[in-house]
Amino acid sequence: MPTKNRFAQTHDAITAWRRDIHAHPELMFDTHRTSALVAEKLRAFGCDEVVTGIGRTGVVGVIRGRRCGSGKVIALRADMDALPILEATGAPYASTVPGAMHACGHDGHTAMLLGAAQYIAETRNFDGTAVVIFQPAEEGGGGAKVMCDDGLMQRFGIQEVYGLHNWPGLPVGSFAIRPGPFFAATDEFQISVQGSGGHAAKPHEGVDPVVMAAQLITAIQTISSRNADPTEQLVVSVTSIESSSTAMNVIPGSVHLKGTIRTLKPAMRDLAETRLRALCIHLGAAMGGSAELEYQRNYPVMVNHVEQTEFAADAARAVSGDCADAPLVMGGEDFAYMLEERPGAYILLGNGDTAPVHNAEYDFDDSIIPSGCSWWAELVERRMPV
Ligand SMILES: [Zn+2]
Ligand SMILES: [Zn+2]
Repeated sequence: MPTKNRFAQTHDAITAWRRDIHAHPELMFDTHRTSALVAEKLRAFGCDEVVTGIGRTGVVGVIRGRRCGSGKVIALRADMDALPILEATGAPYASTVPGAMHACGHDGHTAMLLGAAQYIAETRNFDGTAVVIFQPAEEGGGGAKVMCDDGLMQRFGIQEVYGLHNWPGLPVGSFAIRPGPFFAATDEFQISVQGSGGHAAKPHEGVDPVVMAAQLITAIQTISSRNADPTEQLVVSVTSIESSSTAMNVIPGSVHLKGTIRTLKPAMRDLAETRLRALCIHLGAAMGGSAELEYQRNYPVMVNHVEQTEFAADAARAVSGDCADAPLVMGGEDFAYMLEERPGAYILLGNGDTAPVHNAEYDFDDSIIPSGCSWWAELVERRMPV
């Protein structure tokens, strides 16, 4: 069965919503305009309940099926926030906010879930309750966690939760998914390397933190190359080096390093943190200075539940005829927090041969809207059949 016919009729309207959201990007939790637009539409669709202010600017809509005898409650989640990027698409609906841009397609996610909510509220062709979740601050703010901490799952009696992300590089309108660990844990670290500054011509009189930092950066690479089992995934990247000196003849007193560690299993995550800490302590001491580590555990590994992954794949096959095996993704996704609270699954929807997400030239492909909307609708109707 292909995409649902109803979405051929509403495709233009959903595209207009998407482009309107695209032109007005909002960052992190400041999704005030987008949240208001979402709430207004959900009310207009006739949702049984529309609740705002969950997880600060999150919005939730509740749609009860034609029957509610099954007692099933499944939730569908979209993200609404944009990125601090100066848009370079040149699209007629390009961002009107300098330095903010929907470069991850969350405008498309929001519009597609709105389109699906409209259909679900019109047809109610299921036995149970569908909950639509619109969250802020996926891009680094952990909006999913903040909504969960606000009692999202308990308040609406959610039993399962599903998510979707558009994916450049996958054919337009195709789907891909995998059970188990899918997106990486995204830990962040900062290291303050302390030496004692001095004249660049007399290095023997002090402790050079630049040389210490260089040793440390090289040593850190051994966490993935020598400590981790080669069959596991572990990425360590140092992404920033800053010294307190700007002169060519001054050895600085300190150097500041920043970076990220990506893993797909708790054991690898623990190993990386332990080894990084040991290298900082001992290399710093060995070289006569110190290296202080600040380690922050960010988004956890996003793990798809097996049974729900199968349901998600079945719905995808019903829409597009196929559902591919997705590769592991070393990027992070805060939907991980929702999947820690309830069983569920996250699927990729092909955005075609476009610029990658988080790129100034990326744009969501509006032609995939009927596929995304149909997948949501299929999921609800298949998971809670009348
Ligand atoms: Zn993103
Ligand atoms: Zn995203």
